[in-house]
Amino acid sequence: MVLDNLGTSLKDALRKIANSGKIDKEVIDEVVKDIQRAMIQADVNVRLVMKLSNQIKHRALTEAPPPGMNSKEHVLRIVYTELVNIVGKATPIALQSQTIMMVGLQGSGKTTTTAKIARYFARKGLKPAVICADTYRPGAYDQLKQLCDKLGVAFYGESENKDAVAIVKKGLQETSKYDIRIVDTAGRHALETDLIQEMKDVYNLTKFDHKLLVLDAAIGQQASEQAKAFNDAIGITGVVITKLDGTAKGGGALSAVSDTNTSIAFIGLGETPDDLERFDPDGFISRLLGMGDLKALVERANEVLQKDDVNVEKMMQGRFTLNDMYDQLEAINKMGPLKQIMSMLPLGGLGGASITDDMYKMTQDKLKGYKVIMDSMTSAERDDPKLIGSSRIARISLGAGKSAEDVRELLKYHKMMQKAMKGMKGGAAPGGKVNMQKMMKQMGMK
Ligand code: GDP
Ligand code: MG
Repeated sequence: MVLDNLGTSLKDALRKIANSGKIDKEVIDEVVKDIQRAMIQADVNVRLVMKLSNQIKHRALTEAPPPGMNSKEHVLRIVYTELVNIVGKATPIALQSQTIMMVGLQGSGKTTTTAKIARYFARKGLKPAVICADTYRPGAYDQLKQLCDKLGVAFYGESENKDAVAIVKKGLQETSKYDIRIVDTAGRHALETDLIQEMKDVYNLTKFDHKLLVLDAAIGQQASEQAKAFNDAIGITGVVITKLDGTAKGGGALSAVSDTNTSIAFIGLGETPDDLERFDPDGFISRLLGMGDLKALVERANEVLQKDDVNVEKMMQGRFTLNDMYDQLEAINKMGPLKQIMSMLPLGGLGGASITDDMYKMTQDKLKGYKVIMDSMTSAERDDPKLIGSSRIARISLGAGKSAEDVRELLKYHKMMQKAMKGMKGGAAPGGKVNMQKMMKQMGMK
């Protein structure tokens, strides 16, 4: 998970509330101090941290818990909502035809993010095309073209032409039949006059629905300065914070942007085209606090699991057989990196244990191996894996040409998933919404 350290410290602070005998000023002061320390370590601006702590203190000590909520739940909810406030609102991005211009300094991640966003819309069923307007950096054309080719995304560029404006003009004509048109522009080391002029000339070519500024999370609080500068120069509609996977200081960039009059549209969490997420303040904070984000999981699942693949609701209910697990692994595989999906599961579902690296290493190969093993089982065994003792393991491994160890691993994995599914069932309210109170109870936070 992104911002691991911050998440761990916040979880520790919240546990203090859960474990305290009763909520009084002393407990609140201590927890607020812990939260302050955690936020400052994540590079959040001191002024914002003070504002946040005062809000939490004030509300926790003056507001009465709403009916049906005890004082601990009430304080937890206050901390949660105030944390959501500090990261602000997300930039609205409609799922409809639109043109998008990507801007930002060199190396911030524009080109990578261009490909990621194209993939994001393709997954939503819209047809994307990408236009390369970076005629400044050598190799820019090849980099973007290769990314697009790999993803099967339409690409327009002119490798020999240095006139970015002319290329975009032609590119927009050539790609007029596509739903989503994304223009990847050149960056410089700083926001210089010629860069501003080029951006202006490009965006004057058409009415762009979005001008997204790409910022590297590692710049921390400077994000606010850059967002302001780009906004003043060309008027941006939203920000993408990249490389959140690579820094413990990401809290700085996240909170700094929301403190300007712009907002965050997407966050980048890695180098592959799937490592992009719509920024969702609620989901982000609940994951940070270890409550999982069922909303994001269910949303993402529904995108891929159209029709008869796997019914997510059903998956969370009832028995979870080996057959179910296989269907589900296949589906998850389609959804993207397992790591991302797993980080969306509520921690409570795994009995509070953190997800081990082993669980992340679920690859296509492994799936194939599992399939072979499962083919050697009887249908009764697949339906009720508890039947499988050591003599059956020996028979199955022999039949599948795998080791007994492999079979045990599969069974162990199934058990883990079964446990996780049970947790999800408890945490999901009707309609896939996250039931905060219930989830906190599961975490032992009541
Ligand atoms: P541009 O100059 O703004 O177009 O930046 P690029 O898209 O070429 O990216 C610069 C470097 O950052 C490349 O090595 C990318 O792989 C890397 N990068 C971009 N986004 C992310 C991200 O979200 N996480 C990580 N870890 N690396 C990223
Ligand atoms: Mg680039």
